[in-house]
Amino acid sequence: HTLSEFLCTHMSKPDYLFINNQWQDAVSGKTFPTINPATGEVICQVAEADEADVDKAVKAAHNAFRLGSPWRRMDASHRGLLLNRLADAIERDSTYLAELETLDNGKPYAVAYTVDLPNVVKCLRYYAGWADKWEGKTIPIDGDYFCYTRHEPIGVCGQIIPWNFPLLMQAWKLGPALATGNTVVMKVAEQTPLTALYVASLIKEVGFPEGVVNILPGMGPSAGAAIAKHMDVDKVAFTGSTEVGHLIQQASGSSNLKKVTLELGGKSPNIILSDANMEDAVEQSHFALFFNQGQCCCAGSRTYVQADIYDEFVERSVERAKRRVVGNPFDLKTEQGPQVDQEQFNKILGYISSGKREGAKLMCGGGVAADRGYFIQPTVFGDVQDNMTIAREEIFGPVMQILKFKSLEEVVTRANDTKYGLAAAVFTKDIDKANYVSNGLRAGTVWINCYDVFGAQAPFGGYKASGNGRELGEYGLDNYTEVKTVRTKNQI
Ligand code: ADP
Repeated sequence: HTLSEFLCTHMSKPDYLFINNQWQDAVSGKTFPTINPATGEVICQVAEADEADVDKAVKAAHNAFRLGSPWRRMDASHRGLLLNRLADAIERDSTYLAELETLDNGKPYAVAYTVDLPNVVKCLRYYAGWADKWEGKTIPIDGDYFCYTRHEPIGVCGQIIPWNFPLLMQAWKLGPALATGNTVVMKVAEQTPLTALYVASLIKEVGFPEGVVNILPGMGPSAGAAIAKHMDVDKVAFTGSTEVGHLIQQASGSSNLKKVTLELGGKSPNIILSDANMEDAVEQSHFALFFNQGQCCCAGSRTYVQADIYDEFVERSVERAKRRVVGNPFDLKTEQGPQVDQEQFNKILGYISSGKREGAKLMCGGGVAADRGYFIQPTVFGDVQDNMTIAREEIFGPVMQILKFKSLEEVVTRANDTKYGLAAAVFTKDIDKANYVSNGLRAGTVWINCYDVFGAQAPFGGYKASGNGRELGEYGLDNYTEVKTVRTKNQI
C-alpha cells in the first residue's frame, strides 16, 4: 500500500463503517470530510455513523458475544494468537499506517513511525500475552466448600477514542478488551478516522470472528452519545475531555449503569528543583509540553521552577522553543506539525490572548506559524500566576507556562491545587526531595528526572477529574473483567 494508492481509491468514494467484519454505508447515507491539518484540504469523505449504526454495531457485538459463539468458545491462547497476528500485520504495514496517521492527524511522520507505531505493536503483543494468563483464585472460605473465582469478560464494550494518538489509543483500548474476551463497538474521533479503519481491515484479515470488533467513525454528540446510553452496551471506556467525561458518566447513570472508565484531561505540574541538571531539565520540560504539538492529556503544562534558577531556566527554555522546527510533518527534520483542526487552533490562539490579557509575560511565539494549515508558533509564557486561565485550563497546544516557587511544601500545595490529577514530574538530584514531592502529589503518574516515559506494562490513569480506572499493565485488565465467585458444596 502506498499513500498515493490510498488517495486514488479514497478520493472517489467514502470510507465505510466496519460492522460485523463488513464495510457498510451509514444507515442515513451521510458522510463527512476528514481534513489534512497541514493544508486545510479535504482528504476524503468518510461514512458518518449515528444512532442507527450504533444499534447495528451493538447487535453485531452482542451476537458475537452470545454463549457458544466462535469467540466465546475460542481458546484464550487463540485470542492471544489473533492479537499477536494483528500486531504482526500492523508492524508489516507500519510505513503506510504512519503516513496515513501523519496525513490525517498532522503529527510528524518521524514521530508517527518511531514512536506511535512501535508502541501500538508492543501494546498489542503485551496484551496478547495476557490472554491465557489472567487467572482467578481459589479461596479458603469457611465450611465444606470449594470456592474459586473466574475472570470473565464484561460483554459488549463501547470504546470512544480521541484524535491525538489515534492508533495508540485504539491499541490501548483493543488490547485489554480482546485479551479478556469482550466484544467491541469503537467510535473513533471525527478528526482522525482513517488509520483505525485501516486497522479494521487487518482485524478482518487476521481472522477475528465477525462482530468481535466494530469500528464506527462519527460525531460525539450523535454516535458517541448513542454508545454511552445504549442499554445493551455493558461497559464504556472513554478517553477525551473532562466535559465529555461528565456526559459519559451521566449517560451510564441514566441508562443501564454500564461500567465506566474514563481517561480525561490534565494540567500536569512539572517541578524543577534548583539542584536539577539544568540542561536535562530544560530539554525534558520542553519535550513534556511541546511533544505531539502540545496535544497530550498528560502534557507538563505548569512548569514550576525554583526561584534561584528561574531566570536561567526561562532563558534557556525560550532559546529551545525558538529552535523548535515547525513545518511540513512529512519533512524528517520537523519537530512540530499543525494542530489537529481549526477548532483546536482557534482555541489555543484564544488561550494565548488570555495569557497576554491576564498579565503573563510572552517570552516567544504567540502567533500563527504558517499561512495555511493549523500551525502555531512554539510559545512560552513566563511570570505565570496560579490563578491565570492559562495556569488552570488545559490548552492542548504548544504553549508553555512557567511559574516560580520557593519551597518544596509550597510547590506541592500549589501543584495539587487543580481539579485534575493525571500526571506530574519532578527534576532533582536529591532522592529525599524526589520522594517527598512524588509522594505528596495527587496524580496517577509521577515521573522523576524524565517525562512521558510510557510502557504497555505500566498503568496510566487519573486521580480526581482526570478520570477513573487505569489503562495498560495488569491493572488495565480489571476494567474489562467481571469477577465471578463460584462455591461448590463438597458432597463426600
Ligand atoms: P476533544 O475536545 O479533545 O476533541 P472530546 O472529549 O470532545 O475531546 O472528544 C473525544 C472523543 O469523544 C471523540 O471521539 C468525540 O467524538 C467523542 N465525544 C464528543 N462528545 C461526545 C458526547 N457527547 N458523547 C460521547 N462521545 C463524545
